[in-house]
Amino acid sequence: MFDDTPSGDPRPQRTDDLILPFQVGDSAVRGRIVRLGPAVDEILSRHDYPDPLAQLTGQAAALVAMLGTALKFDGKLIFQAQGDGPVSMIVADYSAGGALRATATIREGAKDTVEKAQGAELHYLLRKGHMVMTIDQGPDMERYQGVTPLDGPTLAKATISYFSQSEQIPTAVELAVGRVTDEEGRERWRAGGIMVQFMPGEGGTRERGEDVLMADEDEDAWNRAAILLETVKPDELLDPTIAPEELLFRLYHEDGVRVFEPKTAHFGCTCSRDKVANVLSQYTREDIEDMLEDGAIEVSCDFCREAYRFELDESGKQFRE
Ligand SMILES: [Zn+2]
Repeated sequence: MFDDTPSGDPRPQRTDDLILPFQVGDSAVRGRIVRLGPAVDEILSRHDYPDPLAQLTGQAAALVAMLGTALKFDGKLIFQAQGDGPVSMIVADYSAGGALRATATIREGAKDTVEKAQGAELHYLLRKGHMVMTIDQGPDMERYQGVTPLDGPTLAKATISYFSQSEQIPTAVELAVGRVTDEEGRERWRAGGIMVQFMPGEGGTRERGEDVLMADEDEDAWNRAAILLETVKPDELLDPTIAPEELLFRLYHEDGVRVFEPKTAHFGCTCSRDKVANVLSQYTREDIEDMLEDGAIEVSCDFCREAYRFELDESGKQFRE
């Protein structure tokens, strides 16, 4: 499932919009660090979310970038959180090749409540609900889906709970999103994240699934890695002047840390006029007539806000190409 080939030159040429896999010492502790600059700025700039929701949506993007780059096939990793709070849904996905996008839905009339959040508070914004991870390997392949209740005050904590409940994989995660002033004095969104997991089948001495309990030695290595991960500060995850390798060295220099081939991310949406037309074709004539305004229907993509306009032709029965 995981594809981490050691690279000849571990130092990536870029420090933004990249995901760097790593291994702590010789242990079964595997991790990923993500730094998003222009990719997350474009995702969040296309929406007009109150800051707390922009932060949470950016965290979801950083999370799917870390998880999606662990998949070795040409598929897509989709994160969805649904709740009964002022925010009803957040969706983010990462496709093989690096396309990253995210969107959120505020419940009608709840924008003020969203603005009152102290930050990216998952439990306040979505309240009770579920989180779903879907691995989509294309139309002819079976989908994998894991579902757990939303559990925790933050997305990072809910993710730890997801992996514990759904996959029985010990996990530690930290996520951060914020505005940072760039060299030209403009405020830009940035996101960062780091995670470690105990993956016996991916290094170390034991096969995955061989034993749920860890050997003492494993347990020590895991506990140390997880505790050190918690010491990372949001500023360190966001600061463009701290290279990902430098941050890894700060955290794990005692055990040693090995990095692998980095992967990249960029903003990208898969919507198209054809896809929207296909959706519209499934409505009845009455529904279409209800949707018409001045003889046309305008549909905008939830992810990228691209607007698609469909006008009826002279017969009034068909959309003009
Ligand atoms: Zn789109």
